[in-house]
Amino acid sequence: MSNIILILGDQLNLQMNSLQGVDKDTDRILMAEVKTEATYVKHHKKKIVFVFSAMRHFALLLREKGYNVDYYRYDSPDNKGSLYAHVEDAVASYQPEKVCVAHPGEYRLLSEIKQWESKLGVAVEISSDNRFIAEQHFFADWAEGKKQFRMEFFYRELRKHTGLLMEGNQPSGGKWNYDADNRESFKKAPDIPPPSTFEVDDITKEVIDLVNIEFSGHFGSLDDFHFAVTRAEALKVLDTFIDERLEKFGQYQDAMLEGDPWLYHSHIGLYLNTGLLMPMEVLLAAQNAFDNDKAPLNSVEGFIRQILGWREYVRGFYWYFMPGLKDKNYLNAQRNLPDFFWTANTKMNCLSQCVQDTHQHAYAHHIQRLMVLGNFALLAGLEPKQVNEWYLLVYADAYEWVEMPNVSAMVLFADGGHLASKPYAASGSYINKMSNYCGSCHYSVKEKTGAQACPFNYLYWHFVERNRDKFENNPRMAMIYRTMTKMDETKVKHMFEDADTFLICLDNNEEV
Ligand SMILES: Cc1cc2nc3c(=O)[nH]c(=O)nc-3n(C[C@H](O)[C@H](O)[C@H](O)COP(=O)(O)OP(=O)(O)OC[C@H]3O[C@@H](n4cnc5c(N)ncnc54)[C@H](O)[C@@H]3O)c2cc1C
Ligand code: SF4
Repeated sequence: MSNIILILGDQLNLQMNSLQGVDKDTDRILMAEVKTEATYVKHHKKKIVFVFSAMRHFALLLREKGYNVDYYRYDSPDNKGSLYAHVEDAVASYQPEKVCVAHPGEYRLLSEIKQWESKLGVAVEISSDNRFIAEQHFFADWAEGKKQFRMEFFYRELRKHTGLLMEGNQPSGGKWNYDADNRESFKKAPDIPPPSTFEVDDITKEVIDLVNIEFSGHFGSLDDFHFAVTRAEALKVLDTFIDERLEKFGQYQDAMLEGDPWLYHSHIGLYLNTGLLMPMEVLLAAQNAFDNDKAPLNSVEGFIRQILGWREYVRGFYWYFMPGLKDKNYLNAQRNLPDFFWTANTKMNCLSQCVQDTHQHAYAHHIQRLMVLGNFALLAGLEPKQVNEWYLLVYADAYEWVEMPNVSAMVLFADGGHLASKPYAASGSYINKMSNYCGSCHYSVKEKTGAQACPFNYLYWHFVERNRDKFENNPRMAMIYRTMTKMDETKVKHMFEDADTFLICLDNNEEV
């Protein structure tokens, strides 16, 4: 008897557990571009092109390797619109012994798949998701009995577990973390190697035409699509990063520059998250660069920490705290997402630039997401559900398992501090220090009150004051409250008035 192996759009690797032991003579691989997945949020057009094109290329590869593949294009007449409908149809046609699928990346889909066995009357086998280094229970085992779940300690466990950047039991260079060396901004316009780009082939061209018709109302530009859509291309992106940019990755990790979101970053998040690259091969490439003196320790450790630390950690965090995480709103933030998150029409240059980058490329780097867009969402008290939806749909690398911990827990402190010991809140001076956005802004980052004052300045203190009951006793916030008591009372009063006026304008959808 045959088996049906369902391959989801983010599981595009021959090494997936679900593809091991497949009988090429009898088993059927099922892949489908379905409406339910493509539209449950209105994903960025470039993200849809990337995923559909990468799926189509992967189906071709599977066929070349001798697998039997049933592939349903989005616009084919026999497309049934949902994964379940396709699985049900395949079960009726092939009468399989079982349906196999690797663990999906979203709670929503896992809950749905868990019901299939009883609905279909056939065994459904969910294999573990080997697009990660740690098994899912690794986080739960580590978290057992803990009140705080700091990434740094989880990361150290994984360093020991994998032996990456280790000399015996000790971290390479004697320290676990070189973050303190990784906070430089650009003193002058840098000469950075450009990101890897790829020609649009016939398959991608067809998908672009499809997306232009079927998803015309979705956010984002389709101009200049240049992402890798095969594993071979994604490997080139990785090699180029290791050869050309890893050396300075650490040093400029937090820097921002008007008109260039790519900088020294790796641009591989979307490939890792769809299986085109596997995390261990990426980490070994970085370790190898360090071993061969091609990149310094601060850069290699910084990069390894992002993938072995943050990526593994947020994935464990997501499954540990779901489904509750979805509804968390510790700071009771209720404000609607302003229109400029879609249009970029705001006089705040940093926000306008980051939204424009996001619209154009389905990409913004970490500090843009955290310290400009996220920082604003936190300070202005934007409602977590709306903010989560925005982040989930605008980035090509966004899937709920990684997006939600970053947004709800890291950015919005909506989980009440399981992930972060204090909120990532900052005034305009942080943005000014790390970027050149302020130079061409309508507002003045030096001014704290008045019509020209940078809104991040007064919103910061407004945020601190309105959440006093939540943070006053937090030892990491104590200094901020002490500083506030020493500030000139009239100035503080003016800042709060300016913040109130600003937030009213925001609520009225007036240009700010
Ligand atoms: C509010 C917010 C939302 C985010 N949403 C996503 C998302 O939907 N999908 C996503 O993959 N990343 C997300 N991140 C993390 C990070 O911003 C992106 O992984 C990164 O910008 C992708 O670009 P890159 O590949 O050039 O990364 P680099 O800066 O080169 O980093 C290398 C890799 O490290 C991993 N990484 C780095 N930081 C994180 C992190 N905080 N969490 C998980 N992995 C990390 C990614 O796999 C990334 O590709 C988010 C961060 C914030 C603050
Ligand atoms: S002045 Fe304020 S709003 Fe303008 S770019 Fe700088 S931080 Fe952003």
